Amino acid sequence: MSDEGFHLPSGDFRSQGHELIDWIADYLEGAGEYPVLSQVAPGSIRSQLPKSAPLKGESFDEVMSDVNDIVMPGITHWQSPDFYAYFPANTSGPSILGELLASGLGVQGMIWATSPACTELETQVVDWMRQAIGLAERFSPDGKGGGVIQDSASGAALVALLAARDRKATGNEVVYISDQTHSSIEKGVRIARIPHLRKIETDAAFAMRPEKLAEAIATDVAAGLTPAFVCATLGTTSSLAMDPVRAIAEVATAAGCWLHVDAAMAGSAHICPEFRNDADGIDLADSVCVNAHKWLFTNFDCSLMFLADREPVLASLSILPEYLRNEASESGAVIDYRDWQVPLGRRFRALKLWMVVRHYGIEGLQHHVREHVRLAESLAGRIEQDDRFLLLQPQHLNLVLFRLTAGEELTRQLMESVNASGDAFLTHTILDGEYWVRVAVGATNTTAAHVDALWRLLDRLTGE
Ligand code: PLP
Repeated sequence: MSDEGFHLPSGDFRSQGHELIDWIADYLEGAGEYPVLSQVAPGSIRSQLPKSAPLKGESFDEVMSDVNDIVMPGITHWQSPDFYAYFPANTSGPSILGELLASGLGVQGMIWATSPACTELETQVVDWMRQAIGLAERFSPDGKGGGVIQDSASGAALVALLAARDRKATGNEVVYISDQTHSSIEKGVRIARIPHLRKIETDAAFAMRPEKLAEAIATDVAAGLTPAFVCATLGTTSSLAMDPVRAIAEVATAAGCWLHVDAAMAGSAHICPEFRNDADGIDLADSVCVNAHKWLFTNFDCSLMFLADREPVLASLSILPEYLRNEASESGAVIDYRDWQVPLGRRFRALKLWMVVRHYGIEGLQHHVREHVRLAESLAGRIEQDDRFLLLQPQHLNLVLFRLTAGEELTRQLMESVNASGDAFLTHTILDGEYWVRVAVGATNTTAAHVDALWRLLDRLTGE
């Protein structure tokens, strides 16, 4: 045992850290070489791990050897340029360094006093992002609103639901979503024990029909219930459908509902002014969520939540135990983000976002988002021109959906063959009973060459 007890000596930390950064850099450079979807059988990783923890510490080399031999085969390579599944969770060098810095500082930023920089950097960087995506001044922390980084869009939705429920507090509140809304809202409704949930019909483009929302609200009011919350989605998970936010906002506002806009993935595209057309009316929302951890080159987790009025959230979530009392909080001059979220503790997530924005600049982020959209459009164009394929239209931003004219079974087999090849990873959805394959272009290092290779793979596996 050394003077440090069993702790890692600083010199070793330094050398292992350098080695690990090299390892990560090598990994990211070669991420495209792995089978994108992990091909291991269930239980195979666990079966290679000892049944109990080591009694005596082991060396970094031993651990890294197991990372290479045991962990890596069980990784699905989200950072592969051939990853097109779900929605992206892309990362970048500056983001990884920001994560590392946050973990090096080891800050737990539950209240302002536990690290003023953790809170104030977050307030400012999130407000940079508000401006960058063109959200109105009413979401700025300098007025009644403000932004916060949540762990996930699910967490953001839960916070909004709790505030909306408590604002009404009748015990018979109703939440309105569409039949395409992400399941996280429904989960939030369950957690918040809001008694009523209505799924509003969508139109041919899978966007919520505002007149159906108005009808549902009128029926509920007539039945003595309390409309409390409406979620409009900009970029649904299945097909990136865009709900007509302005029309929905008019109905929601007239009914006294909280309007939450879930722009978890597509909201990143608002950084480019030309992609904001579908967002008309977003400024009328009570809360807006955009996941920087999907398509803004920032590691999971980093979900941006913008509030037009922070008071209802504070009214729902603020509890002050004696042990957290402090002068700064009591002065009212500071933000304590613990009151804006469900858990008490919080990581210094703003650092990675700050590093990303300072590295790329808004123009750099715009460039890469535009490039992904261009690549998706080029793939959509090829699919559209090939009569073996059907393209889902309208195609939005970086998501392409297709199926084979030869039917569902062959479409499913095509996707499974692509995934089994390891050369790309695609996922599917069902819309109106039809099976569609989704291609979400958003991995940091995806280029035209990768999308060309995907098209060649689809072409070859489909045959004549
Ligand atoms: N909302 C939409 C539209 C999504 O697509 C997703 C995830 O893909 C979510 C919410 C949930 O995101 P999170 O994993 O951050 O909770």
